[in-house]
Amino acid sequence: MNLHEYQAKNLYRKYDIPTTKGKLLTHPSQLDDILRTIGKDRWVIKAQVHSGGRGKAGGVVLVDSKHEANEEVRRLLGSRLVTNQTTKEGQPINSIYIEEPSDIVQQIYLAFIVDRTSQRIMIITSSEGGMEIEEVAEKAPEKILRNPINPIVGIMPAQCRQICDDLGLDKTLSAQMIDLMQKIYKMFVENDLSLVEINPLVVTKQGYLICLDGKVQVDNSALYRQTKMNEIRDESQEDARELKAEKLDLNYVSLDGNIGCMVNGAGLAMATMDLIQTYGGEPANFLDVGGSVNEKRVIEAFGIILSDEKVDGILVNIFGGIVRCDIIAAGIISAVEAMNIHIPIVVRLEGTNAKEGLELIKNSTVSVYEEHDLNKAAQKIIELTQQKEQGAN
Ligand code: GDP
Ligand code: MN
Repeated sequence: MNLHEYQAKNLYRKYDIPTTKGKLLTHPSQLDDILRTIGKDRWVIKAQVHSGGRGKAGGVVLVDSKHEANEEVRRLLGSRLVTNQTTKEGQPINSIYIEEPSDIVQQIYLAFIVDRTSQRIMIITSSEGGMEIEEVAEKAPEKILRNPINPIVGIMPAQCRQICDDLGLDKTLSAQMIDLMQKIYKMFVENDLSLVEINPLVVTKQGYLICLDGKVQVDNSALYRQTKMNEIRDESQEDARELKAEKLDLNYVSLDGNIGCMVNGAGLAMATMDLIQTYGGEPANFLDVGGSVNEKRVIEAFGIILSDEKVDGILVNIFGGIVRCDIIAAGIISAVEAMNIHIPIVVRLEGTNAKEGLELIKNSTVSVYEEHDLNKAAQKIIELTQQKEQGAN
């Protein structure tokens, strides 16, 4: 789960991590009060969406007057922000964070992530933070430093000092940086985070280190014990279908293609998507209905897949181990009948009672194609969806 920048900054404050003073706005009528409370005569207006790249997309703006602040707030609030990290529909802007501006001398990149390869929390830093960090990573990868934290001893002062030296920080900034990194580590572990990315962490003209941005992710598997995080989850920022699937306990990820997939088991789902790609198709989703799939779940899964308008056809690939294929087949038949499905469906059943399942489909009135061979099944659904597209043109 992602936090908004303002939520991340609230969390920073709890750990005494230096960040900017700001206020959240959810309605333009709050603007005057907020500007007065912050004071100053310049402000930073920041759209609160679950995406980076806001600066380049016009979602972060510096304003010099109340009039300008008002214009920017009205432009942003209620609209959608499209960045290079969002879909083309963008993310809804339902709130705006307004901050006092900082005088920036240097922008540092600082992130803590869970690194799968080393199985450790990794500190990633760069002396060249800011909006061009992707370009730095691509053109000058040696400027991105990686330091794993030993989980037994935790973050060590000597290690922090080394990072400061590598970043070229002077003595006073190093002292602040060492303190900062230790606090972030504590916050990371105590809140079951999977990512903290501060870009930029700035050095101000006054000689202070301040976290200007905050991208924080909480490990979804820990939400059962991070109940406070659960309470501040903003579902408006999440993919509606993924959210619905999560509530139904289905493992679903939206993708860009037009072939819906319904598969049991994550490995088989990956293999199915690979096959579709191999034969020139594009999957519309990843969907693992799980090992305990039954008729009801098949119907729910069809509902989720079909709520995606991009879907031109569905490939069902079920391997019956504990599950019985005839029960799945019955689920498919009732789903197609009840939902009045018109798009082509190819079903591949294998394993327990596969023969009985295919028999059921064959004897039903629904027009579902059954295909025993997985390669052929993938080719068949691609062929059928292409025919459908040609027919539409
Ligand atoms: P992102 O583009 O989504 O990562 O949003 P950020 O919060 O990082 O803001 C984008 C950029 O705006 C930053 O990289 C800074 O260069 C700039 N910025 C943000 N806040 C301030 C500020 O207080 N003063 C100045 N001068 N620039 C700022
Ligand atoms: Mn940023």
